[in-house]
Amino acid sequence: MNEARRSLDDGRWRQVAAGAGLLAPDGSVASTIFAEMSALATRTGAINLGQGFPDVDGPEHIKEAAVAAIRAGDNQYPPGAGRRELCLAVAQHQDRHYGLSVDPETEVLVTAGATEALAATLLALAGPGDEVVTLEPYYDAYAALVALSGATHRTVPLRPTPTGFRVDPVDVRAAVGPRTRVILVNSPHNPTGTVLSRDELSVLAAAAQEHDALVVTDEVYEHLTYDGAEHVPMATLPGMAERTLTISSAGKSLSFTGWKVGWLHGPAELVVAVRTVKQYLTYVTAAPFQPAVAVALADEDGRTGEYFTDLAGSLARRRDLLCAGLEAAGLAPVTPRGTYFVVADGAALGYDDGVELCRELPDLAGVVAIPVSAFCAPAGQGAGALRSYVRFTFVKSEDVLTEAAGRLARLRR
Ligand SMILES: *Cc1c(COP(=O)(O)O)cnc(C)c1O
Repeated sequence: MNEARRSLDDGRWRQVAAGAGLLAPDGSVASTIFAEMSALATRTGAINLGQGFPDVDGPEHIKEAAVAAIRAGDNQYPPGAGRRELCLAVAQHQDRHYGLSVDPETEVLVTAGATEALAATLLALAGPGDEVVTLEPYYDAYAALVALSGATHRTVPLRPTPTGFRVDPVDVRAAVGPRTRVILVNSPHNPTGTVLSRDELSVLAAAAQEHDALVVTDEVYEHLTYDGAEHVPMATLPGMAERTLTISSAGKSLSFTGWKVGWLHGPAELVVAVRTVKQYLTYVTAAPFQPAVAVALADEDGRTGEYFTDLAGSLARRRDLLCAGLEAAGLAPVTPRGTYFVVADGAALGYDDGVELCRELPDLAGVVAIPVSAFCAPAGQGAGALRSYVRFTFVKSEDVLTEAAGRLARLRR
């Protein structure tokens, strides 16, 4: 260690680590539970149902479109807002699926995945003194990005009920107030698989309107809903389009998580604000993948619509397979209506601590999962209430899930 070097301790990275719950009392930074569990899977040969990424790629003709774009020379910096045809295709997609009218010239921004859209949005719109409200549990990047922005993170718990994890209006009124700058909503929701109802969205919308907050919605699982559950974009609620930024991505919808092509749309002045930050984060995004994603979203031949339907149907079957396995194992799964995750209660098997269960699961059953506490504020009420829950992904082949279900059956005591 170079003793002459200035300490790194006051860098913003420490706030990010703290926000993400990775800062130990002695000041050291822990690795994430995701890294720990993936390493455990590799070491033990357990089936990794921890991290959620598909084991089958998206449509072949979309891959070919990307290859063709590279061959055709789409290899230099694209425009800052995104390739024209992709902005247009995003607008067409929002109109076709939700009846939203979006101006492709001024109201769309292409980003490096939904992650950059979230980062640039929070950095552009929230800062010290502001509060950002999210659901809890939450996608793990949220807390880190809120910390990076310097804002304070407040949460609305999703509470387990007989009809799944639900939002209680009382909790919304307690969390949203005059300091709330952004309400960041994720539906369909990772990790719980909840698809927020129109009523729940209306409660959040009313709170945003009352306190003049902006709403940012993470809709990356918009096409992955089951049992007829309807995905309702926040921007379609009365009066909400003018204060909502809608974020999505090709990663989950099209099974190209590695392409990192995302987008957002909303009122032009908000999009300008976010673009200003995005410009100095990555400048531009993934030139040859943009025309390929444009082909998919424009969907002139209907093949993408078919792909979405088939993928959702296949995922619903795989969900049923895994849920049956969890049920048989004596874990209590909460049936998800969207995403590719299911959470189950380890308390049903006598495990009060999901972290402990996840550390033992590879030995006990040859399967790796993630404790739901990884998606909760470290000492918050969510981490307490959901301490015994663990998350499994079902975006794996039916063979892998059948094998996992068989192994989980060993848990039954
Ligand atoms: C996977 C995921 C993202 C990240 O999407 P990218 O397009 O890969 O950046 C964002 N939000 C949620 C809820 C996710 O599950």
